[in-house]
Amino acid sequence: MTAEKIIYQVALPVPLRRLFDYLPPAQPSLLQRGTRVTVPFGRRTLIGIIMGHSHQSDFPEEQLKTISAVCENHPLFPENLCNFIEKTAQYYHHPIGEVAFSGVPAPIRLGKPCEILESPSSSTIHPEKHLLNDDQQAAVTAILQKQNTFQTFLLEGVTGSGKTEVYLQVAEQILSQKQQVLILVPEISLTPQTQARFVARFGENVVHYHSRMTPKARFITWQKVLQQQAHIVIGTRSAIFLPFLDLGLIIIDEEHDPSFKQQEGFRYSARDIAVLRAKMLNCPIVLGSATPAFESLYNAQIGKYQKLNLHKRATNAPLPEVTLLDVRHNKLEAGISNALLKTIETHLASGGQALLFINRRGYAPTLMCYECGWMAECKRCDSRLTYHHKKQVLVCHHCLHQRQLPIECPDCKARELHPIGQGTERLESFLEAHFPDISIARIDSDVSRKKGQLEDFLTRAQNKEAQLLIGTQILAKGHHFPHLTLVAIIDADGGLFSVDFRAVERMAQLIIQVAGRAGRVHHAGKVVIQTFHPDHPLLKHILHQDYPQLANELLIERQRCHLPPYSHLALIRAQGTQPNLPSALLQEVQNALAPFKSEGVSILGPVPAPMLKRQGHYRYQLLIQAKERKPLHQILNYSTHILENSKLSKRVRWSLDVDPIEMF
Ligand code: ADP
Ligand code: ZN
Ligand code: ZN
Repeated sequence: MTAEKIIYQVALPVPLRRLFDYLPPAQPSLLQRGTRVTVPFGRRTLIGIIMGHSHQSDFPEEQLKTISAVCENHPLFPENLCNFIEKTAQYYHHPIGEVAFSGVPAPIRLGKPCEILESPSSSTIHPEKHLLNDDQQAAVTAILQKQNTFQTFLLEGVTGSGKTEVYLQVAEQILSQKQQVLILVPEISLTPQTQARFVARFGENVVHYHSRMTPKARFITWQKVLQQQAHIVIGTRSAIFLPFLDLGLIIIDEEHDPSFKQQEGFRYSARDIAVLRAKMLNCPIVLGSATPAFESLYNAQIGKYQKLNLHKRATNAPLPEVTLLDVRHNKLEAGISNALLKTIETHLASGGQALLFINRRGYAPTLMCYECGWMAECKRCDSRLTYHHKKQVLVCHHCLHQRQLPIECPDCKARELHPIGQGTERLESFLEAHFPDISIARIDSDVSRKKGQLEDFLTRAQNKEAQLLIGTQILAKGHHFPHLTLVAIIDADGGLFSVDFRAVERMAQLIIQVAGRAGRVHHAGKVVIQTFHPDHPLLKHILHQDYPQLANELLIERQRCHLPPYSHLALIRAQGTQPNLPSALLQEVQNALAPFKSEGVSILGPVPAPMLKRQGHYRYQLLIQAKERKPLHQILNYSTHILENSKLSKRVRWSLDVDPIEMF
């Protein structure tokens, strides 16, 4: 037996839950874990990452192929990142190679060589900082006490309470120890002010990492982080996979934001795995929000997270005054009651700025024929087409199918079709007609997709060029509008009666976040919430701006129903063009799981997804609910085994969602 035969285990970007064995290349020295290599795979050549080596393989040696090239002689993925990738792949039961490559800049996947980076110019720090108030000081001290120790902090404070200032001052200390700091934000284009403040304070030290950057720029950030030339990184969720060598602090801003969860492919929660990463790296992590996720509040309640509170606004700007506007028995025009219209008028007349929040883009949710009841529906989805007035088209917001506006009813040929319901566009045209002399700006994802439009909107809003602002949830995300005096929530009722158990939480977060935009510096703001259900107990808490109390009540309800955070969920989704195959595949899993059923575990389904047909695919799901994590992991291990080996899986696409935040 020759002593040292070496077999490398390589992670490859393929949808299989395993590593692949390869023989060493001609080069004699031992390749380190995390090294990038080129390997033959079937008829293709792939870039892979060495995750380890051993002295034997489950396959006969003559079947093994040889590593064709080594991309660079140092690991591009440091040891701690390899460990993190392994743990994450296990947690989400996702193919490890896809996890390893999911967030990397394209040039890494394509085998492009590393570049020699210029050494950084000496960095300038601008220590123009605020004198902290007591709450802020307590928060900063608590966090810094845990330097080089793992501890999760939940920093709760209303908009304007000075959370960002806390981040900045803690970051400064960590930086002075020459450690790295990672700040995760929900969506980069929606948080320009947070970024700007970090850049203003830390200058050259700040680098970015998000999908709006070019692949090359992302690759440069990767290398700067690896070579410790970058000390402060602001990025979106995939930045959690950057190759830090000496991370001293992670900050998750707006930690409640659903966009931290990737909703396709590798479905991970950047917030949740950031906590894991901090634990593995032994550093503190701060989750900040005015409206923390209920999961996070629960973790603080049970002592897993340390709670830090900022009780009042840092500038002493008063909190907005919130009122409910009962619109029962009212005639609404474009969704607006007469009373609200009067309030807007008054504010505009006295030189104020008003923001109207409506959570639906387009002109109207659908188009209807009053003669025969026909409604515009999508042929490929179980959904209605949204009417877009300016472009004169009908659009499906689920599959993006678009078609021309019919000139007559397709069923009864009646000549008149009527828009039903409200959207941003309709609100805009109504207000344009009503306030012809007022400058109006609208923002929703139709607008913000176009380059420069969001920036344009923000500028016009911030310098008060536009006096009336209309928009969707984009408005709830971290913008500062210094002149805003009135915020109106056009429709608060949607979330109260949804099937999704998180809908009320979301709605409360949205309303409170939007309300937080009002009256920031000098003016006391006013918030008006239109509702048909003024007596709804949950609206009462929002009215009193009592998010903690609202959260407590809803958490009690979740406990009673065994919903997260009092249980753990996983969703197996399956879809195919044939109606019966997806459910058949899931039934196979359900049958196979019979022996795993025990106390504290339930396996529900297969049931049709809330929207059964989407983009021409029939969609089913199996929900696994478990009191403890361990049985959930066992079940998922077994389920992926069944799914990967089923004959049906060739004709049905399936995916796994651990800790789903949307149930469709
Ligand atoms: P948040 O991140 O909680 O919304 P910020 O950190 O943005 O709050 O603070 C809100 C405003 O108050 C900012 O304009 C900031 O410059 C200012 N500010 C923060 N801390 C202080 C302080 N200690 N004293 C005075 N102003 C402060
Ligand atoms: Zn008709
Ligand atoms: Zn559709």
